[in-house]
Amino acid sequence: MSNIEQTLSIIKPDAVERNLQNQIKQDFINNGFEIIKEKKIHISKEEAEKFYKVHESKPFYNDLCNYLSSGPIVVMTLQRENAVMENRKLMGATNPVDADEGTLRKKYGISIDKNSVHGSDSLENAKIEIDFFFNH
Ligand code: ADP
Ligand code: MG
Repeated sequence: MSNIEQTLSIIKPDAVERNLQNQIKQDFINNGFEIIKEKKIHISKEEAEKFYKVHESKPFYNDLCNYLSSGPIVVMTLQRENAVMENRKLMGATNPVDADEGTLRKKYGISIDKNSVHGSDSLENAKIEIDFFFNH
C-alpha cells in the first residue's frame, strides 16, 4: 500500500551561504524524494514570524525569526512515500550534536540554530507550510 505525501523543506541561510543547496538537493534525490516545487527567496522578519508562529512563546523565537530572514533560503516541496517522517529521519535531531551519522544536520549543521534544514513535523503542518510558501 503506498502512502505518497508531500512535505515542506527549507535549506536555511547557513547552508545557502555555504553554497550547499545542490549537495543537499542531491541528498534528497538519493533518498527517494522528488523535488516538486522549489524557489530561492529572502523572506522578511514579519514573514519569518508568521512561519514560526507556533514557537512564539519560546525564548529563542526572536533570534529564530531574525535568523531565517537573515539571508536567502531555498524552499521546496518534497514528495515520496511517507515524506513527512522520512524527511524528519533524513534531517536528524534538531541539535546537530545529537543527530545521527549520515543525517543532514550531522553532515551540514553548525549549531542548534544554524542547523541547515527545516522539515514539516506532521502531514497537517506540511499542508499549511506548503500553502504558506507556494499558494499565495
Ligand atoms: P525542528 O526544526 O527540529 O522541528 P523545532 O521545531 O523544535 O525543531 O524548532 C525550530 C527551530 O528553532 C530549530 O530547527 C532550531 O533552529 C531552533 N531551535 C530549537 N530549539 C532551540 C534552542 N533551544 N535554542 C535555539 N534555537 C532553537
Ligand atoms: Mg519544528
